[in-house]
Amino acid sequence: MKDKKSFEQLVKHALDGGAARAVLIDSDQIIVDDRVRLKCRVPLCAHYNRNLTCPPNTLTVSEFREILKNYSRALLLQVKGTGCEDEDVRQAELKVQNLISELETKALMEGNYFAAGFATRCRLCPECVGVQSGEPCRHPFKARPSLDAAGVDIFRTSKNAGVPFNPLDRDELYFAGILLLS
Ligand code: SF4
Repeated sequence: MKDKKSFEQLVKHALDGGAARAVLIDSDQIIVDDRVRLKCRVPLCAHYNRNLTCPPNTLTVSEFREILKNYSRALLLQVKGTGCEDEDVRQAELKVQNLISELETKALMEGNYFAAGFATRCRLCPECVGVQSGEPCRHPFKARPSLDAAGVDIFRTSKNAGVPFNPLDRDELYFAGILLLS
């Protein structure tokens, strides 16, 4: 799985599956910044402490920073949104979530058994069970932690990867996911 051709097949799978952009990058091109997670609280996101894949319910920025040292490569993908309405955003985020979990499984089956995917906040359920319910995740093998929670600065990471990403451009909304590979 560690050969270039196998990684390129993951890129092809991402593009065939509906990603607008998919590229392989070195893991040290992924920028981790504590301020990304800060922005989940300032201003307070409606999903904070309510979605199981959002802070503070998933791994910390420090943990992600340490874990990242064990990976050499990554696949960065972007899905293009169709609009700014909540359902448009939900559909795009769902696509990222589904693609990342599919790619992670594919990588795992081909021998990259530490492949780990990060996506947007999870939108697999119309409403997350939330922490207070005490109920388990309804789709534990599909839900993936959010990149924001891990502190990934997707703007600078995309720039490092040579692909555009402008979160302020409402006409060209993209949603990103990253699959860590070793
Ligand atoms: S699959 Fe459902 S319950 Fe699990 S994290 Fe996603 S939205 Fe929440």
